[in-house]
Amino acid sequence: MINRFIVEEEINRCLLCFDAPCSTKCPIGKDPASIIMSLRFKNNKAASQKSEDLDLKYGTCSEACQNEISCVKNCIRGKIDRPIKIPMLMNYISNENKISIKNNSDEK
Ligand code: SF4
Repeated sequence: MINRFIVEEEINRCLLCFDAPCSTKCPIGKDPASIIMSLRFKNNKAASQKSEDLDLKYGTCSEACQNEISCVKNCIRGKIDRPIKIPMLMNYISNENKISIKNNSDEK
């Protein structure tokens, strides 16, 4: 299970690049840089909304990208030490989203 501590560590390593290649190279137009920015400001709802529509249309990142992980391969942080674990962050958002949907349906 991905915990918030690991997520925080990754999002704090992100360089918040201008014209971020993780986003510009995504084959389905997902915008990891913007999603990471939302997570950084603890706005999970915005992060989720930014990926949800594309997930419904194209499937999960690994399905849509066929495990090419072009976001990770092009991450600028990788030139310094290691790239941001973007797929892990996307899984985190997806899991949080499922929990939120479940909690909302349990309340009804
Ligand atoms: S390329 Fe890497 S460091 Fe730059 S915004 Fe994207 S995830 Fe962050």
